Amino acid sequence: MEKRKPLIAGNWKMFKTCPEAVETASRLTGLVRNASDVDILIAPPFTALAPVSEALKGSCIFLGAQNLFYEKQGAFTGEISADMLVSAGCTHVIIGHSERRLLFGETDEGVNKKIKAALAAGLIPVFCVGETEKEREANETFSVLDKQVYIGLKDFFAQDLASLVIAYEPVWAIGTGKTATRDQAQEAHVFVRALIEKAFGGETARSVRILYGGSVKPSNIGELMAMPDVDGALVGGASLDPDTFSGIVHYKG
Ligand code: PEP
Repeated sequence: MEKRKPLIAGNWKMFKTCPEAVETASRLTGLVRNASDVDILIAPPFTALAPVSEALKGSCIFLGAQNLFYEKQGAFTGEISADMLVSAGCTHVIIGHSERRLLFGETDEGVNKKIKAALAAGLIPVFCVGETEKEREANETFSVLDKQVYIGLKDFFAQDLASLVIAYEPVWAIGTGKTATRDQAQEAHVFVRALIEKAFGGETARSVRILYGGSVKPSNIGELMAMPDVDGALVGGASLDPDTFSGIVHYKG
């Protein structure tokens, strides 16, 4: 079994106009030109996807969206389909981010439909899971992860999930400056990988990349990446500045 190739992903959330996004993406392409041992993904807002796709042409950076709607097309004002993302140049899509779950009422069942729609369109889903602070304090971390993974990946077969990326993002660590310790991250990743093994078998469990997300920055990425089950990072705030994000991509120095 080959070692899983690390993936460093940047979630730009609701930041950057089109010109700002193109400028950031263009600067980033120069900064990460030689990072061939790491996959790199950026997820700008919907409005900037097509122009950023142009700016990334010829670079090694993958383009992703931050969400999609699971229907193919129709009267769903304000929503964006998987095919639309593909046509804008996306290869990946973040699904089930905690901000969508907490602020926009996204459910595990909805997440499941979105993962299905992404895979059907040929997009790689970055499927986010993670517990809140209250759930961790109540010792519910594992049961929350179990439920999110079980429902999120319901009705799939191992062969559907060859490209799947999972992001473990403890909600209490997102945008708070509090990072999970490397042991907390490793423990959760091992647990999630075991869930995948139980449901889909050892081969899928060994190949699925599990990213850690929650206040990742250049100063803590190295210790997180040293853990055997941490296969990369989903980075929010620290992905907005190309120099800082490049510092994370170049975590090996
Ligand atoms: C995120 O938005 O997925 C995230 C992890 O944010 P931050 O890095 O800012 O904590």
